[in-house]
Amino acid sequence: MNNADKAPRCKNCNHCKQIGRMQTQQRRLGRKKYYCEHPKVRRVTNNSFVGFGAMGYESPLTLKTAKRWCPLKEAGES
Ligand code: SF4
Repeated sequence: MNNADKAPRCKNCNHCKQIGRMQTQQRRLGRKKYYCEHPKVRRVTNNSFVGFGAMGYESPLTLKTAKRWCPLKEAGES
């Protein structure tokens, strides 16, 4: 297993929570919004926003990696 396999990914992380959707006009469904709720996130950033979901009802997170400030990178856990 190389380092890339062990790297945290928001997509598969238990700390990644979907909270709300974007507001849109014309009654279209907005993209979902995702935030990091790791207990240490407030120590590393004031903005825990992770990213937007794709267009569509399910709207899965589009980010393929983790945030630069990911607390798991610092701790070396996953
Ligand atoms: S930033 Fe790190 S801890 Fe937060 S959701 Fe993404 S992978 Fe998980």
